[in-house]
Amino acid sequence: MTTLLQRGRRGERLDDLDIVDMHGHLGRSPFGVPDLSPASLVAGMDRLGVATCVCSHTHCMYAGPSDANAEVLDAIRAFPGRIAGYLVLWPSGADDVRRQAERYLDAGFAGVKLHDTTGFRYTDPAYAPALAMADERRMPVLLHTWARAEQFEEVRRLATAYPRANFILAHSGVAGSIDAYGRLAREHANVHLDLCMSLTPCGHVERLVEAAGVDKVLWGSDALFLNMAHQLGKVLAARIGDDDKRRLLSANARRILGRET
Ligand SMILES: [Zn+2]
Repeated sequence: MTTLLQRGRRGERLDDLDIVDMHGHLGRSPFGVPDLSPASLVAGMDRLGVATCVCSHTHCMYAGPSDANAEVLDAIRAFPGRIAGYLVLWPSGADDVRRQAERYLDAGFAGVKLHDTTGFRYTDPAYAPALAMADERRMPVLLHTWARAEQFEEVRRLATAYPRANFILAHSGVAGSIDAYGRLAREHANVHLDLCMSLTPCGHVERLVEAAGVDKVLWGSDALFLNMAHQLGKVLAARIGDDDKRRLLSANARRILGRET
């Protein structure tokens, strides 16, 4: 039987896997990316056979223009089913956050993305209305993480306070922290781990799956910052079974986006 790795090495499109990228980006940024257009993202997905990419605007990281989410909404509407969206928020105040969340979650965004290079903690009270809405609607909340103890503490607090929201920790296992991320995912049913990373050590995917359990691991590429093919290749080449690869590339994400867990 042909394995997924063999198919990847042949350059086959893996359309039949219904692959979901749970960590993508759109929008201008200070990074040197030549083409950040939604069409460029979808062209890359087509080359690999990726079905859906859930994107946030790059202004999750910086104070940006107020129309950042509108730009992502345009992309969702231009590529229905292919591009989905995470709402990004600047915690200027609870009322403002509530207005943004009501407007965009009602308009069809799939979840919320928060980044703490903004200088604000994930437990900042201004975020609370959006997190409460994500909880009510059983939506995913993607959090940028980098294995910092205070981030783990914030995740524990949020996962407990909003038990129906599904928290996804980006860059899980970075800098030798696989066991710590695995513990967190096993402690909380609603904490999941994403795989996107610029430099992934050999054995990382296998060890993260072992530490957290395969149902808690999600594929994310960080496209268009990182190359989606490179991020997919490390999963295809991981020493885990093809059934496990299918779960972390597709089934786990579909369960979360379908709000089944
Ligand atoms: Zn990212």
